[in-house]
Amino acid sequence: MLRFALLALLFMLVARGFWRLVGGVLEAARGTQPGHGGAATQAVKLVRDPVCGTYVTPRAALSLTAAGSTHYFCSEECRTKFSGTR
Ligand SMILES: [Zn+2]
Repeated sequence: MLRFALLALLFMLVARGFWRLVGGVLEAARGTQPGHGGAATQAVKLVRDPVCGTYVTPRAALSLTAAGSTHYFCSEECRTKFSGTR
């Protein structure tokens, strides 16, 4: 009977440890999901410099609006070159 009580106690300790582990895994899975989705939506949109082909961010790039469309350039040199060829 003492052996049964010890086994029951051991089982309870193992079960408690197991459920703590499962809870931790579920918490980790729940925690990573919104972060993954947020990273995908925060991707920076890049535009191509029509002169040299470099990809630039519109916020940092030099822009030139011609014939209703806006073009983005990596440098003043590219912008001058673009307007000069037209
Ligand atoms: Zn350029």
